[in-house]
Amino acid sequence: MKIEMVDLKGQYKKIKSEIDQAMIDCVESAEFINGKLVTTFADNLAKYVGVKHVIPCANGTDALQIALMALDLKPGDEVIVPAFTYVATAEVIALLNLVPVMVDVMPDDFSINLEQVKKSITPKTKAIVPVHLFGQCAGMEELLQIAKENSIYIVEDTAQAIGAKYIYKDGSIHQAGTMGAIGTTSFFPSKNLGCYGDGGAIFTNNDALAIRIKMMANHGQAKKYQHDVIGVNSRLDTLQAAILDIKLQHLDEYCSARNRAADYYDSGLASIEGLIIPKRVGNSTHVFHQYTMKVMNGKRDALKSYLQECGIPSMVYYPIPLHFQKAYQSERFPIGSLPVSEKLCEEVLSLPIHTEMTTEMQDFIIDSIKKFFNN
Ligand SMILES: *Cc1c(COP(=O)(O)O)cnc(C)c1O
Repeated sequence: MKIEMVDLKGQYKKIKSEIDQAMIDCVESAEFINGKLVTTFADNLAKYVGVKHVIPCANGTDALQIALMALDLKPGDEVIVPAFTYVATAEVIALLNLVPVMVDVMPDDFSINLEQVKKSITPKTKAIVPVHLFGQCAGMEELLQIAKENSIYIVEDTAQAIGAKYIYKDGSIHQAGTMGAIGTTSFFPSKNLGCYGDGGAIFTNNDALAIRIKMMANHGQAKKYQHDVIGVNSRLDTLQAAILDIKLQHLDEYCSARNRAADYYDSGLASIEGLIIPKRVGNSTHVFHQYTMKVMNGKRDALKSYLQECGIPSMVYYPIPLHFQKAYQSERFPIGSLPVSEKLCEEVLSLPIHTEMTTEMQDFIIDSIKKFFNN
């Protein structure tokens, strides 16, 4: 029994005939760039997530960059981001000569700390980029309220949470990436909806923003050879769109498989002292891009090594908070200034979770963890 963090080979085998045919059709059509399937997939994804416009692009980092470019911010404008996330979120802000303003996250569900967001708002704050980390939505309803009161844009980083559903107080349901002004996602192979290379997309319900986003992603081109703004070249290959259009039809199954695996971990691990299983919040579903536990009492690295000896991979997402990274260090955020993010980097451990997990694998992982804790 070989256990992997993700099993893309096993997942491919199950849909091999569909995927192979789609790839052959695409190659035979020779529509490699901007083929019909790119639009078909974008339309299907828009229907799936419930958003008016989906603009495909080359990867999730580009999606974030193009989203911010479309907002027409000025150099020096501030964008609030959580310090406990993947670097891409802060990177694009800095690249556009904007200022990433880091805030802490909640210790239990890893979502952006709303009180700190409020305190960090200045006249220069123009956007907030919440990250729906590990597959569960941040506190969007309150965040949208804060943004509205301060005329700030929200750009949701939905790279890890495609398909997660957020429930408003009035009972209405909105998918991750469709609530803020703009949402961005990634189709990196290991993401919940992954292609066989790089890919990404941008979501918006705003017609004017959709036009600007399309233009930004296509050399700032309003009409052929008419460039109104400085843009970038960021496209989703037709071949990737063909693959994604098939995998989209399986996304609900994939989410269910991940949730079954998470529930199974929960029941096996909940009673272990010194281990905290992922918190499920009441107002969001979880799509378990990662199953991320907290290992208390300084035992995280020892547990990781022990599991490795047992042949079980595990990962630390993320080992270093953004404000500790050389490229993003700033006097504004000294060591100790974002204590929750700093502590989480020492406590979190993500277990293998994917669409092909078996109970045999999970029993072995759970038993090994129990052995480590002498449980
Ligand atoms: C994966 C990821 C990205 C970047 O996506 P790429 O397609 O790799 O550029 C951005 N933000 C988060 C939170 C991610 O997990």
